[in-house]
Amino acid sequence: MEKLKGKTILIGKEPGQGRLMVAVSGTGKSASLGAVGSVPGCVSRCKPAEGVGHAAVVIDASGNMILKNVKSQNITYVNGQEIVSKRISVSDSIELGKDRFGINLSTVLETAKKLVVSVSVPSGGGGGSVTKTFNIAHLEVVWTDYHNGLRSLRENQKRVNLIRSGCGIFTMCAMPCIFFFGPVGYVLTAIGVIGNIYSFIGLKNDNTGDEQERLTEKFQERYVCPNPDCNKFLGNQSYKLLKRQYSMHCPYCKCEFVEKR
Ligand SMILES: [Zn+2]
Repeated sequence: MEKLKGKTILIGKEPGQGRLMVAVSGTGKSASLGAVGSVPGCVSRCKPAEGVGHAAVVIDASGNMILKNVKSQNITYVNGQEIVSKRISVSDSIELGKDRFGINLSTVLETAKKLVVSVSVPSGGGGGSVTKTFNIAHLEVVWTDYHNGLRSLRENQKRVNLIRSGCGIFTMCAMPCIFFFGPVGYVLTAIGVIGNIYSFIGLKNDNTGDEQERLTEKFQERYVCPNPDCNKFLGNQSYKLLKRQYSMHCPYCKCEFVEKR
């Protein structure tokens, strides 16, 4: 516990892989526990770079632990009771999200301790650690694919909306024709009504949201640090921005990025 005094531990779902992620604020270090996809969707993502997670364990200088529900839309339980912020001890039962995903606090603390210890080992300066170099040129394609995918979804949506309102206008104009042209008016109105029914069914079966989620999920799995020991998601930012923001280094494992084509 000594090592964790004054630290904040973020807990949440690992973006992309769906494991339980444990991060210690300010160290840039995180670890993932459990199997891929083991954490349900009701647990919010953990993004240490933004200081965001589902819940956070704040440990003060005397070693007291306060569990905090990070965002108002999250749900966190301590011993079956929903909490916003509560003092806890290792023996308390903690569950995250409406599906009550149980976490083992002592495992989380143990993991966090290892992260803190590993960060305090001096890196580079004669410690025998060599900065590894990884080529990130392929990430440009990953970003472009994702970006184009989202754009074509949006354009498709726009086209569908246009057809829908077109059908509505057509029907509106066809109905008065009944008075002037009799049977022709009925036929036109019928065509308009059928068009409206079709677009209504289309609206019901619209899966743009799912499609977008699938695209994002795939992107988060591929837009990661190429270091196999790290593999962390590099954030929802363009490839260009990525290169600039991190000055060609992984913000997590600190490996060096190069661009070789
Ligand atoms: Zn990395």
